[in-house]
Amino acid sequence: MKKWLLILILLVPLSGVAKVAKVNEIEALLAKAHSMYKNEKAGANADYIPALAKVDSELFGIALVTNDGKMYTYGDVDSRFSIQSISKVFTLALALEAKGADQVASKIGVNATGLPFNSVAAIELNKARSVNPLVNAGAMATVSLLEGDKENKWQNLSHWYNEFANTELPVLKSIYQSESETNGHNLAIAELLKSYDRFYGDVKDNLDIYTRQCSIGVTVTDLAVMASPFANRGVHPITNKKLMSEENVERLLAVMTTAGLYETSGDWAFKVGLPAKSGVGGGIIAVAPERFSIAVFSPRLDQAGNSVRAQKAIDYIAEAMDANIF
Ligand code: GLU
Repeated sequence: MKKWLLILILLVPLSGVAKVAKVNEIEALLAKAHSMYKNEKAGANADYIPALAKVDSELFGIALVTNDGKMYTYGDVDSRFSIQSISKVFTLALALEAKGADQVASKIGVNATGLPFNSVAAIELNKARSVNPLVNAGAMATVSLLEGDKENKWQNLSHWYNEFANTELPVLKSIYQSESETNGHNLAIAELLKSYDRFYGDVKDNLDIYTRQCSIGVTVTDLAVMASPFANRGVHPITNKKLMSEENVERLLAVMTTAGLYETSGDWAFKVGLPAKSGVGGGIIAVAPERFSIAVFSPRLDQAGNSVRAQKAIDYIAEAMDANIF
């Protein structure tokens, strides 16, 4: 037998074994993180949107998608919850693609506000009225920047979200209703921006679209799939569709790094070192560029509005996988 053929025959099964070991390692890691933090009871569900207070606080699910399209999950991975602020990332992604990075920077702003997600002061303290697409003010302004009348804009947005999720995502009616009925604060923010010519369409229509996007129902698995193109230079590792340019992915990840976890984004970057985004529904996504996306869901939040267990689980897994981008 030729020597090279013999080497090949010996190597093929070996590489197979190595792969299985790696698969098992990731699975074991998710299970370990789950068991380490499942008894963590700190924090509380968001309750300023009444329907969020009713979600089972004990739910805890973890999902990870690698750039070769493989999926790993553990825990409550089939529970559907509202995407909330994590939606802001996908709407920003659409604005970057449709309007360009310069318009996003000049018409919305990209600096971290360093203030809570629903801050009015962020607008008042900044003379240029620049906000950030990942806090409420900037996120609503980003919706207003997109083209189309109300229904058109919603169709485009939900189609865009579905492309990332590789499935049709529903709107959770109870959350949408509850948030619509208690939306005075966001309405005030949008009106204030409008008064400074930093809102680019009808306030009520765009607020309604924003509220709908926040009420989109996802599983933690959906979220990891949705974040996966951000780890893969804009190409979806499961559908192979090119959804974003590499340049826009870079900018998106920069904004996630500086503003993804509200006013504690600096602490998160310092400690974990991954671009991420949280939502008051209890989800967090994080992106390890060139490697994987991860999503964790558990409803109890810290003071800033970030899921306590999700932060701990991602920190643990990212560290074990040596994923800190810095
Ligand atoms: N829909 C929520 C709001 O506008 C999103 C907040 C969040 O998840 O940070 O208040």
